[in-house]
Amino acid sequence: MSQPTPVTPDTLIRPEVRALGAYRVVDATGLVKLDAMENPYPWPGDLTDAWLARLRDTQLNRYPDPAAAELKQRLRETLQIPAGAELLLGNGSDELIQILITAVGGREAVVMSVDPSFVMYRQIAGGLGMRYVGVPLTADFQLDPSATLTAIEQHRPRVVFLAYPNNPTGNLFDIAAVREIIAATPGLVVLDEAYSAFSGKSFLGRVLDHPNLLVMRTVSKLGLAGLRLGFLVGRPDWLSQLDKLRLPYNINTLTQVSAEFALSNMGVLEQQARKIAADREGLAAAMAALPGLTVFPSQANFILFRVPRGTVDVVFEGLRARGILVKNVSAAGSALNDCLRVTVGSPAETAGFLQALTKCLA
Ligand SMILES: *Cc1c(COP(=O)(O)O)cnc(C)c1O
Repeated sequence: MSQPTPVTPDTLIRPEVRALGAYRVVDATGLVKLDAMENPYPWPGDLTDAWLARLRDTQLNRYPDPAAAELKQRLRETLQIPAGAELLLGNGSDELIQILITAVGGREAVVMSVDPSFVMYRQIAGGLGMRYVGVPLTADFQLDPSATLTAIEQHRPRVVFLAYPNNPTGNLFDIAAVREIIAATPGLVVLDEAYSAFSGKSFLGRVLDHPNLLVMRTVSKLGLAGLRLGFLVGRPDWLSQLDKLRLPYNINTLTQVSAEFALSNMGVLEQQARKIAADREGLAAAMAALPGLTVFPSQANFILFRVPRGTVDVVFEGLRARGILVKNVSAAGSALNDCLRVTVGSPAETAGFLQALTKCLA
């Protein structure tokens, strides 16, 4: 009897997974981290002490509450979730995107968003072998209603993701255009409001007005990126279906207890968010005064900017050599060509960034 050919990744792993590029996170060791939209501010010491006291009573020998009932109740109260709406919690909103796309999946199914936008929509659809369509934004990164409606008509997407504000561009879309898209979409529309704390704009209060709308939030950009907690809000009939794909204990006990604690001290996080949003305006103005930069308007906690043609790698590496890590979102031939994205950090971090950027452009 001949030996069977040993199994290899090339024969066993699905082709769509093999074709996928890994999601890369650049090593930030020793660098000022302005690449991932993290809140730069720690908690006041007395808050940390109170949090640690709560953790002391937490039992890690038991499984987490699979329904995360206390945390959900805290979210309802803190964020004024409409009474008739249900909540679904995810291990970061990334997991919710995965659940959503898996639930509506199938090889013929189309996942749609705009281009440029958040990369995980495309990444997760790709890994599941689904078709992804990114409808180009206009030159100033607004929705193109006629192109989007045509694409919806043509591709009949099962789900459309719109980040509001958008990442990596930072802007809010026109509300009337968003409403038109919700009305025209034969599938679900998910408004991804990861940056709502910095924009002051949201569809959350009106999520029940549209039968096919879900609103997604995360605590990551608000200052709790390490907890991994996102949530979907919408009609119970949608969320009870999606909930079947959620792994039973996806929100671990430490996250449940810590998030509940943090949300009961929401004032601290909101104050930090207000400061970051105010500092964003100063940073944008200082950048706009530098020679050769195009600075795009932002309602989030980061700023997208374009450097002189052909210099993006030099500027990115120059910043890194000076101890500053930003995100290089440039891709030749794309709408983001020659573009970098910087998170709004603390005043000291921002000053260091501006000083380094000035030298890189000289
Ligand atoms: C950062 C980001 C997320 C990811 O949020 P997590 O809760 O940390 O997974 C989702 N959507 C957009 C638009 C983001 O920029």
